[in-house]
Amino acid sequence: MKLQLLPSTFDDAGPSPRQHLTCFVIDDSVAVDAGSLAMAVSPLQQSQIRNIVLTHAHLDHIAGLPLFIDDLFSTLTEPITVHATQPVIDTLERDIFNWSVYPRFSELSNANGPVLRYESFGQAEEFTVRNLTLRAVEVNHKVPSTGFLISDTETTIALSGDTAGTEGFWNLVNSADVMSAILVECAFPDELDELAVVSHHLTPRLMARELEKCERDCPVYIVNLKPMFREVIVDQIARLNLKGVTILEVGKAYQW
Ligand SMILES: [Zn+2]
Repeated sequence: MKLQLLPSTFDDAGPSPRQHLTCFVIDDSVAVDAGSLAMAVSPLQQSQIRNIVLTHAHLDHIAGLPLFIDDLFSTLTEPITVHATQPVIDTLERDIFNWSVYPRFSELSNANGPVLRYESFGQAEEFTVRNLTLRAVEVNHKVPSTGFLISDTETTIALSGDTAGTEGFWNLVNSADVMSAILVECAFPDELDELAVVSHHLTPRLMARELEKCERDCPVYIVNLKPMFREVIVDQIARLNLKGVTILEVGKAYQW
């Protein structure tokens, strides 16, 4: 399984490690979240991605979705399928694709047919997206949010999505047959503990507490570092000296 966290900001040297937006691309063909999808996909990814799985509807996870469909509108030969829970789909239709912020693509077609369709999944459900099997688990964020186990025939990874302290995600991680990598969020530095608690995110200290629930011995990658505090968070995580825990590099293609 190949996974890449797409860049969301660029400086003179090219893609920057600062992560304003969240969009993972698996095997160049399935997106999990769509924060920078339109802005940072490769031509190959743009030509292959027709399935987008969403963890939740916060802007940093969906910002690139309307633009991605817009870019492809006239050329699609099959609809873009958005896989999400019903509350997330309702939010997209009410607050984004509402004709005011952007067109309601779910009601529009090009010469080949519809351009956007939804497939809803429920929490604790298992569903397939192309060659991948996903197992959904509700996590603890400010809005309805999902973490996932994502498997192909050989590999399983776990993705927490945005979350504060949670139990179900770790129960699922611990009960899986195999586990190749775990991606966990850590949005704020320890000094912003209060902000992390009210916004349902983790700090290095809280993240370390979460990892105590993890019984797997596989690499753990930290994601979703707020760009303003990136250096501080990286430093605080390094000082925790947690075995097998590293920051997921923006733009790098990982293979498990
Ligand atoms: Zn969020």
